[in-house]
Amino acid sequence: MQIATTLAEARALFDALPRPLGFVPTMGALHAGHVQLLRSAQRGSASVAVSVFVNPLQFGPSEDYAKYPRDLEADRRTLAQAGVDALFAPDTAAMYPPGFTTSVDVGPVGATFEGVVRPHHFRGVATVVAKLLHVVRPDVLYLGQKDAQQTCVLRKMIADLEFPVAVEIVPTIRESDGLAMSSRNAYLSAEQRAEAPSLYRALVAMREALARGASKAEANDIARATLSRLAMPDYFEVVDAESFEPIERPALPAFVIGAAHFGATRLIDNLYVAPDRRETA
Ligand code: AMP
Repeated sequence: MQIATTLAEARALFDALPRPLGFVPTMGALHAGHVQLLRSAQRGSASVAVSVFVNPLQFGPSEDYAKYPRDLEADRRTLAQAGVDALFAPDTAAMYPPGFTTSVDVGPVGATFEGVVRPHHFRGVATVVAKLLHVVRPDVLYLGQKDAQQTCVLRKMIADLEFPVAVEIVPTIRESDGLAMSSRNAYLSAEQRAEAPSLYRALVAMREALARGASKAEANDIARATLSRLAMPDYFEVVDAESFEPIERPALPAFVIGAAHFGATRLIDNLYVAPDRRETA
């Protein structure tokens, strides 16, 4: 696996890779969910490039940027073992040299839910992905459904700004007890880890209640009652899968979304409800 750390190295490296080129942006601390995302990219593209960059622009001042787990050597081994063709691992100065001031704001789709709790988060995400797309110039961008609002934000940016890239969304990879795999699961204590799958169960209960004809308020109550008593619910909602706007009934496709605190760790999760009623995790 070839590695680039500067933008010039990255351009030369990615230009030489066989097309179609699939690209998977990550913040590292790679887990089995990331590896499944890579597998999907490898099935769909002739070569696959991955970036590992903990993007300071998408963290708020009181968030976990400093303590976000970083282990580039372990990530490099994981990616090489998975057969990834190229890794782009820039440092912050390479991505944001002195004087960097531009940002990409996609508007309302990034202002609700995670955008309320994390006001500059999606501007940071859109800005870094815009820059990465210009450097990597992939044919296909692979994103995890785990971060459903992020998929809507990035699809909007790509459509509005005419980025010449296709987008593939890969279903969420879960632990055997239903917990969505996430680098932040490492923050959970043993007790919190045992309770954390209740977020997934709450979403399943909400989806089932809606399918039975319950109102959104009733379904929301059921979700909150299913969540572990140790957890603090943040939101449960049903949103349009494209605009991420709340909807009363799943006019499909939709996401049933939820967020909750388990101690100091805030987890998000969602279920996709598709028009043909095939529902994926
Ligand atoms: P991150 O490193 O957390 O920024 O994630 C990098 C990419 O992996 C994003 O597109 C995420 O949505 C995706 N991802 C993270 N966790 C999972 C998971 N459990 N299943 C599928 N994709 C995931």
